[in-house]
Amino acid sequence: MIVPFLDLARQTRDLRAELSDAVEQVFDSGRFLGGERCPEFERKFADLCGVEHCVGVASGTDAITLALRAGAAVSGHEVITSAMAPPATAAAILAAGAKLVVVDVEPGTLTLDPARLAAAVNEETRAVVPVHLYGQCCDMSAISEVARKHGLLVVEDAAQAHLSRYEGKAPGFRSDAAAFSFYPTKNLGALGDAGAVVSRNPELAERVRLLRSQGEGEQGGVVEAATHSRLDEVQAAVLTAKLPFLGAWTRRRREIAAYYRERLKSSGLECLREAPGRLHPYHLFVIRSTQRARLVEALVRRGVETRIHYPLPIHKHPAYAGLADSLPVCERAATEVLSLPLYPELTDAEVEKVADAAVACGSAD
Ligand SMILES: *Cc1c(COP(=O)(O)O)cnc(C)c1O
Repeated sequence: MIVPFLDLARQTRDLRAELSDAVEQVFDSGRFLGGERCPEFERKFADLCGVEHCVGVASGTDAITLALRAGAAVSGHEVITSAMAPPATAAAILAAGAKLVVVDVEPGTLTLDPARLAAAVNEETRAVVPVHLYGQCCDMSAISEVARKHGLLVVEDAAQAHLSRYEGKAPGFRSDAAAFSFYPTKNLGALGDAGAVVSRNPELAERVRLLRSQGEGEQGGVVEAATHSRLDEVQAAVLTAKLPFLGAWTRRRREIAAYYRERLKSSGLECLREAPGRLHPYHLFVIRSTQRARLVEALVRRGVETRIHYPLPIHKHPAYAGLADSLPVCERAATEVLSLPLYPELTDAEVEKVADAAVACGSAD
């Protein structure tokens, strides 16, 4: 038996009836874009986040770009994010016309280091994009403090952070906006690309609505050059059908994570830190090893698939070379991090097998 790193077919199998029903209702409605499903999902997702506004868009990447554009005049100015992020975060900032600035992360959690943020701010800085890496929120009170002091827009990259909480609040509650992705592998996944911006600010949300629909104003006529970026009815219906399960899925993720943590104590393998005051939804369960290549091979031999998130920090990608000189914490982390299988559909036997294998391989180091 092999424990696959991820098996999305299991979830669609479990929810076949609900998903088929949701999609068939869209067939019958004859509305594939701009119907009732998108606003329905927006309302429900806003409620779940405890914020007033949610605007569905075509992807998590677009959600970051449009929230930045909607919230501040970032074009031609600097936007700061952490280098320990997927390339999508960088691409989203550049797509907003901003100059990308990357800074280092905190060693325990690998989330944006507020002190590095403060040191990077200058008169050209307009916004910060804290990346809630692996699902765990950044130190939002320290980041908000820096942002307030310098008048920066804060757009949280919550693409991995569905049901994540910082001092009891969801992404988007204590910032200008949060960007979510519903890419199929995310904790709430569509059957294709999808994303959303959530915000408490009605003007910002309204501007995202404008920017997602080619900048066409209420009176007709384009009032601002913009792309279109829509959450289609099939994806909205699928996401709405899955939404009631997200709480139980997240509890199961946290249960598996707690079990891994307990078992790995005796392994010599380091787990990333769960910082106080944060509810980590475990989009990914990440360990660190200085012997990563050997560990990966040993785990494969024991039937456990793993992945690396991410093998390169942003400034080490060829396209972004020269963006930063040396960011030692994330450069080292990129050589050591390893993600173990963690998703709600794993059986108890699989979870045990992953832990057994990690303990055996870790102790053999
Ligand atoms: C997935 C992801 C994105 C991009 O979302 P898409 O929906 O794939 O465009 C951005 N940031 C982070 C941290 C992600 O995990």
